Amino acid sequence: MKEWLIRDVEGVEKFFPLTEEEKKAFKEVTSVYPFLSTSYYLSLAAESPAIRKMLLPDLRELDESIQSKGEDDPLCEERDKKTLHLTHRYPDRVLIVTTNFCPVLCRFCMRKRNWKRPTFFIDDPEIEKAVDYIKKNEKIRDVLISGGDPLFLPVEKLKKLLFKLKEIDHVEVVRIGTRAPVILPQRLFDEELLEILENAEKVWINTHFNHPDEITEISKEAVRKLLKAGIPVNNQTVLLKDINDSVETLERLFRELQKIKVRPYYLFHCDPVKGVMHFSTPISKGLEIVENLFKRISPLAIPYYAVDGPGGKGKVQMLPNRYRKEGNHYIFRNFRGETFKMPDR
Ligand SMILES: *Cc1c(COP(=O)(O)O)cnc(C)c1O
Repeated sequence: MKEWLIRDVEGVEKFFPLTEEEKKAFKEVTSVYPFLSTSYYLSLAAESPAIRKMLLPDLRELDESIQSKGEDDPLCEERDKKTLHLTHRYPDRVLIVTTNFCPVLCRFCMRKRNWKRPTFFIDDPEIEKAVDYIKKNEKIRDVLISGGDPLFLPVEKLKKLLFKLKEIDHVEVVRIGTRAPVILPQRLFDEELLEILENAEKVWINTHFNHPDEITEISKEAVRKLLKAGIPVNNQTVLLKDINDSVETLERLFRELQKIKVRPYYLFHCDPVKGVMHFSTPISKGLEIVENLFKRISPLAIPYYAVDGPGGKGKVQMLPNRYRKEGNHYIFRNFRGETFKMPDR
């Protein structure tokens, strides 16, 4: 499509060399799961082993002994659709998957199933259907716009959707899930786009930094532009094996995010998605990391650790267990590991 998108080994090697083995894996894996990156993100990968692991095809993606435990759509987003693009699971909020296009194909993508489909962008009749569904359901106060990456929709389409949602009184919040600040911060330097996001009034951005190496001067600038336009920015991280599954890395990430006024919202346990299973950590590992974070930093910089239940059971937010009831008392455990007791009333 565009010259800033890199799709092949030759393009990657303009940024850093690949070994013969890596090249072989690249060819084999991309015959099933394609490669795509911005030149910006590749330039970060050249300096960061963690980013390379998130970006480069890996033979384990095709290893059935690892991947057979995964499913294409473990969260049953397709089954729970009310219109072609809209999933309604929780009473007050809906998810609209507006496109399958992303300028970077992260190897751990939860919607890897959509990579196999031809590129789609929600069309006008489907925007109408989704908006109608929301209009008729007055309990819906929060609309998640996801993808792919919605900030790479044709801008007229994005504008249309956002302005229709703006007109619905009971819709109070519109969340856009985007990795643009991470993989192409320059996207947020587009004044037209910023104006649309600002004028749509209800927009929050949920972005997706996974590693401190992704926080660069230019990504900070992109975040500043959003904040300046009055748009709150929150972050969703996925816990990824050998990439960010240590308390040191995540403490650094969350502190850096707080410094740029991005609130860490979720730390997701890696969903059991086919092609992604090799990124999975034990749940106990995530809980241990979060427990240690509570000993070290303020909860203002600690996201909810959450699993998303297979079969569409929904998200469950987890905290380390720090209290229990005993008779008429609660026993608490503080940040130093000391216990104390308080009566129920
Ligand atoms: C994650 C998700 C939401 C939003 O959940 P929050 O916990 O409010 O962030 C809404 N709908 C679906 C289908 C989801 O998967």
